[in-house]
Amino acid sequence: MEPAVWERAFQRYRGLVEDAEAFWACLRTPLPPCVWVNRLKVTVEEFQAYCREEGIELEPVAWYPGAFRLPSWERPGATLPFVAGWYYVQEEIAMAAVVALDPQPGERVLDLCAAPGGKTAQIALRVGPGGSVLANEVSRERLASLRATVDRLGLLNVGVAWYDGRFFPAPDGVWDRVLVDAPCTGEGTVRKAEHRWRPVTESFRRYCTTVQQALLRRALHLVKPGGVIVYSTCTFAPEENEMVLDAVLGDYGVVEPFTIEGLQAMPGVQRWEGRSLREDVVHAHRFWPHLNDTGGFFVARIRRTEIPLPAMSLPRPPRRWPPQQPAYRLDGITWLCERFGLSPELFASYRYWMRGREILWMAFPVLELPPNVVLESCGIPLLSYKRKHIKPKTAGLQLLGPMVTRNVVELPDRAAALRFVNGQSQNLAADVEPGFVHVRYRSFELGCGLYARGQLHSQIPRGLQTQVE
Ligand code: SAM
Repeated sequence: MEPAVWERAFQRYRGLVEDAEAFWACLRTPLPPCVWVNRLKVTVEEFQAYCREEGIELEPVAWYPGAFRLPSWERPGATLPFVAGWYYVQEEIAMAAVVALDPQPGERVLDLCAAPGGKTAQIALRVGPGGSVLANEVSRERLASLRATVDRLGLLNVGVAWYDGRFFPAPDGVWDRVLVDAPCTGEGTVRKAEHRWRPVTESFRRYCTTVQQALLRRALHLVKPGGVIVYSTCTFAPEENEMVLDAVLGDYGVVEPFTIEGLQAMPGVQRWEGRSLREDVVHAHRFWPHLNDTGGFFVARIRRTEIPLPAMSLPRPPRRWPPQQPAYRLDGITWLCERFGLSPELFASYRYWMRGREILWMAFPVLELPPNVVLESCGIPLLSYKRKHIKPKTAGLQLLGPMVTRNVVELPDRAAALRFVNGQSQNLAADVEPGFVHVRYRSFELGCGLYARGQLHSQIPRGLQTQVE
């Protein structure tokens, strides 16, 4: 058999893996999808009951409560419970970065490279309503996927920012913990699509290491003295892992030991291509794919020391207009309460933001605006103002769905639900007033529709229309 492209490329790691044959064999097998349950919307038992009913095989992930491998589920990202925000689809081993970060209830956490937002969401659930996450991403296209995650999962404690993380413009020492899930050459993801894997060029690797070093350097500034940074990648190359730690940490950060019960890891490498690296890199974890039957991943947990860093001069941040501001229009909430039979008290304990004149965002009060940073969103969009019209947003209605008592369309069958989530209009007899309605199918809160002249028009955002079958 002709060796696969990656087999030649990964020869350089032979000396690092204990059982090279097991490593090779593992990379030839595809990776089962993995999901974790969003307990803001559903309990683990409800999710398991749904899977039983649908004949979906679930294998609990021993080291991560509420996460499951799905050996026979081909498209978990295209189902009704996915649209309703019941779960997040994530590469299993990638969940380890947040376990190592270990965010605590009430803490403020910065996720410097956040899209599409899986780790942001994990952190948001861990810090809870008394804590907050600032999720930053440099790519405009990927920002959309990050915002879609926040909206679909209903994360009221997440603010989203759009900056180059290397020059993130906040003052030093603001965050309790910072995650740097760095862009990398992605060698550890080979099992996702073995046939499409292309060798990494040395110039691309060099570019990645430069960006990785700059991101970690910025994170050392942004975390509080004594705070924790997690640096992670999904690649095997020491140049992008231990050597980044070696080049950046100096006396300002120490790589700490940590354990994740139920996961096997190899220690960080201390020598590579004739170079010796600082001793504490040994505490980093290398998750080789064959150790836990996962993708490949690298995680280092770093404790920021008390030693002050020299001031860092940053380029002037790009001007963002308009900036977010406390909401100056709340009349839409009164309309929402009347239209959907919601109690005004339900809205009393949140904070509201606007950016420009259109969207009203709802967030937990703890979500503050860090100095100098303009956010793209704060919490989830509740409604939009278009001239004289007020329109509810799907994210808001999905979250409030279980409390909605008026103008609800209960879809009669699965075919009608599929048409709705796929963005189609349909003829339907419903006992509702013409105008915006909340749409539900069984216990799936699907979001906003427009009912007029016996027709239901889907208002599901395009990003959610995943062509559910
Ligand atoms: N943490 C994400 C998750 O769990 O869903 C995955 C992050 S992915 C490994 C790395 C991300 O970093 C990409 O979305 C990429 O666009 C972003 N990125 C690349 N360079 C960046 C920079 N200079 N500042 C901020 N983000 C950057």
